[in-house]
Amino acid sequence: MNVPLVLTQFLDRAVALYGDKEAIITDSRKFTYSQLNERVNRISRGLRDLGVQKGDRVAYLAPNSMEMLEGFYGVFQVGAIMVPLNIRLKPDDYCFILNHSESKILFVDQELYHLILPVKDKLETVEKIIVHYKENDTAETGYDNWLEEHSAEPFDREELDEHDVCSLLYTSGTTGNPKGVMLTHRNNYIHALSTMHHLRVSDEDTLLHVLPMFHVNGWGSPFYYTANGATQVCLRKTTPETIFHALENHGVTVMHMAPTVLNALLQYYEQNIPSIEQKVRVVIAGSAPPPAFVTRVEKELGWEFLQVYGMTESSPLSTVSSVRSHLKKLPMKEQYKMKAKAGVPMIGCEVKVVNDMGEEVGHNGRQIGEVVTRSNGVMKGYWKNEEATMEAIRGGWLHTGDMATVDEYGNIDIVDRKKDVIISGGENISSIEVEGVLYEHPAVLEAAVIAVPHEKWGETPHAFVVLHENAKVSEKDMIAFSREKLAHFKAITGVTFVDELPKTASGKIQKVHLRNDYWEATGKTGRFV
Ligand code: ATP
Ligand code: MG
Repeated sequence: MNVPLVLTQFLDRAVALYGDKEAIITDSRKFTYSQLNERVNRISRGLRDLGVQKGDRVAYLAPNSMEMLEGFYGVFQVGAIMVPLNIRLKPDDYCFILNHSESKILFVDQELYHLILPVKDKLETVEKIIVHYKENDTAETGYDNWLEEHSAEPFDREELDEHDVCSLLYTSGTTGNPKGVMLTHRNNYIHALSTMHHLRVSDEDTLLHVLPMFHVNGWGSPFYYTANGATQVCLRKTTPETIFHALENHGVTVMHMAPTVLNALLQYYEQNIPSIEQKVRVVIAGSAPPPAFVTRVEKELGWEFLQVYGMTESSPLSTVSSVRSHLKKLPMKEQYKMKAKAGVPMIGCEVKVVNDMGEEVGHNGRQIGEVVTRSNGVMKGYWKNEEATMEAIRGGWLHTGDMATVDEYGNIDIVDRKKDVIISGGENISSIEVEGVLYEHPAVLEAAVIAVPHEKWGETPHAFVVLHENAKVSEKDMIAFSREKLAHFKAITGVTFVDELPKTASGKIQKVHLRNDYWEATGKTGRFV
């Protein structure tokens, strides 16, 4: 008989094999897997009493916490769909997502409740708001009271199919409005099996959650650490201080984080050199272009470094950096260069880089194409947006909109987002490469490069630049600087100095806004308008 691949199995396994083992460590509390399970049962009963049925949406606005983690399984047991919300959005964004997802219940952390208050009356479908933490409770009901009102006995679960949607995750909104990505139990289950293999997760591991669980990168990890009976540490705030403190006190072995956070950790380490006992064996970074400091992570901190690439729509990961054993004969420098690439397909993922005709580009590290992928992790579709789903998944392949090269060893290297590439005189220019050069200028704090219309070349690169305080540089000098460092066709042809750049809540620069405004002002038509 086929056993449906549903995520509640992971918790069942942990309770059966590791019931007395520490499951979650928070800032002030500790829970075993049996205790976690009891709380999960209480949540499911509470949700059923509130009338939550299979397929209903239950939203969460919370930092990484026990409440968020236990909510995953509590929601799944009643067959409902979890909608985790990014904690750095604005009240209007919450209003949009809660109404768009037609969420019925909203769990909100007490410290974040003020973000919901201004739009509370505009929420069309939310029937109940439950606030985590009973202290200074300002909403209808306190979470801890609510939990205690319900029995911890085993729960009569809703029957689940592996193709049932378990989560609705909204994308970062880097290139437009956030889209609701429907991931199924099967998507997350198979993704978890593959990832736990690549990270060699075991019951001896302790994961420190650094990536937020509301984002897809953080969202998937609880599943594979639970399945293996590992311990998970949830801190409400992760700063270099709190992270090093947790490494020392909780024996953390694994962390997943954004490259910017890893960079901050390294800087903190170099300035303070904490003399602590720590057991970290591997750190994983993804979600943005590969960092240049891989070498230092491995040499100075002694942590193995893995680069991963993916997107919300692929559950999320598709590739992982690797240096295969036969390549270990190469000089260290070459090995590190390979590690900084997005890497090779993960088990269960097919990943290709294709040209406009859909043919694979040469494995020579030079030809650029779009990354397409197919796997059991690819989303069911975008919520209430069939047109966007059909645009993204064509012929069974998810079109990522990311441009890349492939080297002779099959390593994929992300060059740019398709929409951000500048096509000048038939040549593709990576906006990321040009930005990288501008960042070398001592006056530049931030830079974003976009395509602008050009009579002769069709498009040329134009930079939006934020300068360091009191720094001065002319447009002419910036252009000369870029011509010195880049092939001339890649050099910028103009600069707009600005006070700040438009960004998503997770800090990604929204070039789409810069581009739309620029093209609209010129009145020119091109591929962007
Ligand atoms: P939206 O789809 O709403 O515009 P978004 O694409 O930023 O936002 P996410 O799904 O959070 O939303 O991010 C996925 C994207 O992040 C990828 O498509 C890719 O552009 C970028 N990315 C992820 N990992 C890497 C990596 N290792 N290197 C370079 N870019 C990466
Ligand atoms: Mg995207």
